Amino acid sequence: QVEGVKGEAFVIATDTTFAPFEFRDASGNMTGIDVDLMKEVAERQGFDVEVKALGFDAALQAVQAGQADGVIAGMSITDERKKIFDFSDPYFDSGVQMAVAADDDSITGYADLEGKTVVAKTGAEGLAFAQSIADEYGFTVKALDKADTMYSEVQTGNAAAVFDDYPVLAYGISQGNGLKIVTPKEQGSSYGFAVLKDQNEDLLKAFNVGLQSMKEDGTYQQIMDKYLATGD
Ligand code: GLN
Repeated sequence: QVEGVKGEAFVIATDTTFAPFEFRDASGNMTGIDVDLMKEVAERQGFDVEVKALGFDAALQAVQAGQADGVIAGMSITDERKKIFDFSDPYFDSGVQMAVAADDDSITGYADLEGKTVVAKTGAEGLAFAQSIADEYGFTVKALDKADTMYSEVQTGNAAAVFDDYPVLAYGISQGNGLKIVTPKEQGSSYGFAVLKDQNEDLLKAFNVGLQSMKEDGTYQQIMDKYLATGD
């Protein structure tokens, strides 16, 4: 156990919905890979954790404002973010992909997006990627805070496509959200637990030690299997 965290209580911010990493179960409790990993680390390292579902951008802001001690939200480790945050060891490899409504056969690639509007999450990698190719392909990008709104825009035809992380798109599709994937995966990036730069070093260390022990004793794989093996 890492000394500095024992007996402490930490507030960890997360997204509202980023299934299977964080979402509400049937009873309204936050669950998912991120929530399970964090709770298990807390138990092993002897600290209390309160997971607050604030939204992705709001979670990053909360840490910067000192309202939360860390963020676990399927947050990609990027050089840009490393200027503000310190990241744990990576715990999941991911990347961005595009999805459209399942009954839409008019879009099979980025070139079909000309003159259309696409959606992505505020502050997320999917948004940055969509923006990076928007001019080239002549489409408009709309940023939304919540996954539900983002997905329903595509389901109802208000938006032509959504750019999001592929494990999340794949999970949603397997749960019957009415979308389909039409393009290859883009730029890979890995998820990490983050704290404010040069703050909470002990918490970061405790996460890494906890993660390592979960990988060694099979708990990490059990958590992955629990959420990723179901639904397809
Ligand atoms: N992995 C993406 C990012 O870090 C999206 C995270 C999310 O929407 N919760 O930008």
